[in-house]
Amino acid sequence: KSGFATLIGRPNVGKSTLMNRLIGQKIAITSNKPQTTRNRIQTVLTLEEGQIVFLDTPGIHKAKNKLGDYMVNVAEHTLNDVDVILWLVEPTNFIGAGERHIIEQLKKTKTPVILVINKTDTVKKEEILAFIDTYRKELDFQEIVPVSALKGDNTDVLIQCILKYL
Ligand code: GDP
Ligand code: MG
Repeated sequence: KSGFATLIGRPNVGKSTLMNRLIGQKIAITSNKPQTTRNRIQTVLTLEEGQIVFLDTPGIHKAKNKLGDYMVNVAEHTLNDVDVILWLVEPTNFIGAGERHIIEQLKKTKTPVILVINKTDTVKKEEILAFIDTYRKELDFQEIVPVSALKGDNTDVLIQCILKYL
């Protein structure tokens, strides 16, 4: 089993921490490959069960200029080209303009979306549940997985979840 995943989310939600955590865990081979034509391959996770290639998405935000337009275009293509999208959020980010914009992009793609709620070590379980409810109303997520990238909580579940869609 092998396939492509992309990790999206606003700055500071823990994308880098999560990548490092996933790499640190169970990994046989990792590599960082440079530029392909449209996507930058970030990391390849090789597991017993298969291989997950994480692609960088150069920001899905509203374009402010021509370069921005191009980047947004690349990002939108990436969403369609991967097997699964991981949208990383943290339980303090309720839905604002940035989230709405991402939701609009996600509605346009047929690619399965996993909502990854990070930093679960910082909030109470009830707060996480309320947070999940809010997001669930906005989009039909294939899966919702709470994790703590920092502590490594539930990241094994996330990996199994990603593998289902490859
Ligand atoms: P990125 O901008 O999305 O790549 O976010 P980073 O991975 O750089 O993380 C931003 C900050 O959040 C850093 O200070 C991390 O240590 C912190 N962080 C990331 N994941 C977690 C987590 O699961 N729990 C807590 N408490 N902090 C986290
Ligand atoms: Mg980062």
